Amino acid sequence: MSGKTAIIVGAGIGGLTAARALQRAGWHVAVYEQAPAIEPVGAGVGIAPNAVKALDHLGLGEGLRDSGQRQHALEIRLRKGRRVTHIPAERFESRYGAPFYALHRAELHRLLMAGLDPAALHTGHRALQITSDAGAATVTFQASHGTRSETADLVVAADGVGSVLRTALFPDYPGPRYAGYTVWRGIVPADRAEALGMPPVLSETWGRGARFGCAAINDGQIYWFACESVPEHAAPKHDLDALAARFSGWHEPIPALFAATPPDTLLRHDVYYLHARLPGFVRGRVAFLGDAAHAVTPDIGQGACLAIEDAVTLAATIEDAGIDAGLRAYDTLRRPRTERMARTSGRLGHILQTRNPAAALVRDTAASALPGPLLIRAAGAAFAWTPPMGATS
Ligand SMILES: Cc1cc2nc3c(=O)[nH]c(=O)nc-3n(C[C@H](O)[C@H](O)[C@H](O)COP(=O)(O)OP(=O)(O)OC[C@H]3O[C@@H](n4cnc5c(N)ncnc54)[C@H](O)[C@@H]3O)c2cc1C
Repeated sequence: MSGKTAIIVGAGIGGLTAARALQRAGWHVAVYEQAPAIEPVGAGVGIAPNAVKALDHLGLGEGLRDSGQRQHALEIRLRKGRRVTHIPAERFESRYGAPFYALHRAELHRLLMAGLDPAALHTGHRALQITSDAGAATVTFQASHGTRSETADLVVAADGVGSVLRTALFPDYPGPRYAGYTVWRGIVPADRAEALGMPPVLSETWGRGARFGCAAINDGQIYWFACESVPEHAAPKHDLDALAARFSGWHEPIPALFAATPPDTLLRHDVYYLHARLPGFVRGRVAFLGDAAHAVTPDIGQGACLAIEDAVTLAATIEDAGIDAGLRAYDTLRRPRTERMARTSGRLGHILQTRNPAAALVRDTAASALPGPLLIRAAGAAFAWTPPMGATS
């Protein structure tokens, strides 16, 4: 037990993974979350082989295998249903050493929180300000009973794309940028999903200025998302029927999935990402991770996976080299990789969301022509990652 203390700001996937990783390395962790409670909200999430390896490293692989839905294939279709790519998932698995999973976000949260002392989780605490000097960092929170300051040897800033802590320590940083599209998400419950007989295949369908994706997740449920290119702040009507009408003519099971989704579970979020590179992921004793450090667009399905990698790397580098050298190593290891992923995701999103008919035709033709082995190799940039060695291994 090192006796070192860490404050983690944000109980999203990044913050909870950091809590798990540091706790396993002997740290006393305290997690602060602005929400009044950790509630089972959100939709599904895909966990790619790189993040599966990271979760294995944290001793969570068995839990993931028990609670997640292993995916048998990845496929791409066009809006009338023509399949342009279908790759059996075991080909990624044999090359990159781990399968693909998809599960409800609430299930992933449950997995990450198991083993975290409930007394270490402080909900209803919104971080307002942070200071850091050579040996410690102090965060000031707004809580229901007033403001409160806490000091620790290390602060992990995992407060998401709109990070207040990033603004405090990088006041000149331009902040998030709108990606040009909004995403609707839904969950079809098991009793309605059964009749659809969907195999566990991560599937994405491309249109013009619109995309649809779905996957069977844990406990017989189905997760779907629908992306639409719209101007920033457009706020389209929050209505499943209107959404289904805009995707009318798209292949089955898309209409059936809209019809089977309970309207009160429909979610919509405009997509924001960090366009400019953050000058550093570390300031004094503060480490930024996940979307707070490098929010990427969801186009390569890697935002949460990268946050999980960050957390594993942070704990391992500190364990190996001590806090200050470990933080430097964390910065050196994580910035180039996440910057590459952000660039790839942004470019891909531009192509996938195109409204231009000629550009869409080129895209669809290219996807049909690309051989599977090439796509599998291209995915290596994301999936080939392996956890650094450290005491958590
Ligand atoms: C439509 C969509 C689909 C996606 N699908 C995938 C996928 O399949 N696979 C994948 O890997 N990634 C996916 N992503 C990306 C992924 O969701 C994010 O990258 C990931 O959730 C980031 O986790 P995080 O912990 O860094 O941030 P967040 O999840 O944003 O968590 C931040 C937490 O900090 C809290 N917080 C914020 N400010 C404060 C404050 N001041 N004080 C205290 N607490 C604060 C928030 O309430 C929140 O709980 C998707 C994203 C979108 C939009």
